[in-house]
Amino acid sequence: MENKTIILKEGKDASLKAGHPWIYRSMIKSADGNPEPGEVIKIKSSRGRFLGMGLYNPKSEITVRVITHNDEPVDKEFLKNRILTANSKRKEIPEKTNAYRIISSEADFLPGLIVDRYGEILSIQTLSLGMEKFKEIIADLLIELTGIENIYERNDAPVRKMEGLEITKGILRGNFTPRTDVIENNIVFGVDLESGHKTGLYCDQRENRQALKEIVYGKEVLDCFCYTGGFGLYAKHYGASKALGIDISESAIKMASENLRKNKMDDSTVAFETGNGFDALRKFDKEKREFDVIILDPPSFTKNRESLEGAIRGYKEINLRALKILRPGGYLITFSCSYYINEELLLDIITSAAKDAHRPAFLVRILKQSLDHPVLLTVPETYYLKGFIIQTG
Ligand code: SAH
Repeated sequence: MENKTIILKEGKDASLKAGHPWIYRSMIKSADGNPEPGEVIKIKSSRGRFLGMGLYNPKSEITVRVITHNDEPVDKEFLKNRILTANSKRKEIPEKTNAYRIISSEADFLPGLIVDRYGEILSIQTLSLGMEKFKEIIADLLIELTGIENIYERNDAPVRKMEGLEITKGILRGNFTPRTDVIENNIVFGVDLESGHKTGLYCDQRENRQALKEIVYGKEVLDCFCYTGGFGLYAKHYGASKALGIDISESAIKMASENLRKNKMDDSTVAFETGNGFDALRKFDKEKREFDVIILDPPSFTKNRESLEGAIRGYKEINLRALKILRPGGYLITFSCSYYINEELLLDIITSAAKDAHRPAFLVRILKQSLDHPVLLTVPETYYLKGFIIQTG
C-alpha cells in the first residue's frame, strides 16, 4: 500500500535535515490523501523532495515523528532491525546489571517507545500514537528477541494525553506479579513495576551511583532525595562509615529499608527516613550537623521554560545548604534531571551557591545519564540528566 504524504511549508525542512525528528503542526503545509491518525506517512519538502518516513498524529502538536530518512517500509522487519540495533548497543550492560533501558525512544530512532528490563520482566511505554499502533507487534518482537515473556505496560505517563492517548497500565503479556528484585553492580534492589517512579528504578543514575566508589570509603554520607536508597546503599557497599537517606515518599523509604535487609546491610550505620529534603538540609545547617559527602538528586523542578526561575531558586537553595554543612574537603554530588536546566546553567547555580555559602568549590567530575540512555547529539532533548562532583575546601 502506497504511503500518504505530508508536505512541509517552504523552508521548514532545516531541523529535519539537521537530524531532529519532530515536525510541529505549524511546519506542515498539507496532508495529502487524508492519512489516518497513527499512520506511517511519507514526508516531502515544499519542492517535492523526499525527506523521510514518519508517524502521523494530527491530535499532537508534534504532528509527525520521523522514524527513518530512507524510503522504506516501516513494518515488523523494520522494527525488528531497530530493536536489534538498540540491543547490540547495550550488550555489555547485562554483565553489570539485569535492570537497564533496552530502548530509549528518539535516541534509538524509535520515537515514543521506551522499554526497560527488570530481570525477567520487561516494562513498555508507547508514548506516541504511532508506537501505540505497533504495540502488539513490538511485544511479539521483544519476546522473540529477548526471550523474556513477561511484559508490563506502564502507559500512565501524562505525555500520553498530549497524543490523545488514554492513561493505562497493566500486564501486556505473561502472567506475573509486577514486583521483582534486580541486581545492579552486586547490590539488590526491589522494583515495583506498577507504582514505582519512572518504570520502577532510576537506571539512568547507575554509573553515577558507581562513581561513589572512589570517594565514600570511611565517610559519612547524606542522600537527600534517596528514592529506594540507590546512592545510600552504594555508599555502604563501598565502605562508607555511615549513610542517611531522606525522601518525601513513604513507599520509597519503605522499599529503601527493605533493600537494606535484602543486601544484609547493618542497619545501625544506614538509615532511611521520610522527610522533606529542603527542611532536612535547613535543620542540619541550624544544628551544625556535618557530612563528608552529600548527594542531591531531586526530582525535576521544572518541566517547562515558564517555571524556570522558581526551579533555579530551588536548585540554588539545596546546593547552598549542602555546601554549608560539608566538612572541609567534603564532596557534593549534585544533579538536575530537567532538560531546561542545562550543564552550564547548573554550574552557574552551584557557583553562585558556593559564593553565598562562602565555601570554595572545585569541579572534580562531570556526570551524565548512563549509557543505556544515550544522548543523540542532534536531539538536545535526549540529554536531560547532568551532574557534578564538587569538592569543597
Ligand atoms: N537518587 C535516586 C533517585 C531520586 S529521584 C536513585 O538513585 O534511585 C527523586 C526523589 O525525590 C523521588 O524519590 C521523590 O520522591 C523525592 N522527592 C521529591 N520531592 C522531595 C522533597 N521535597 N524532599 C525529599 N524528597 C523529595
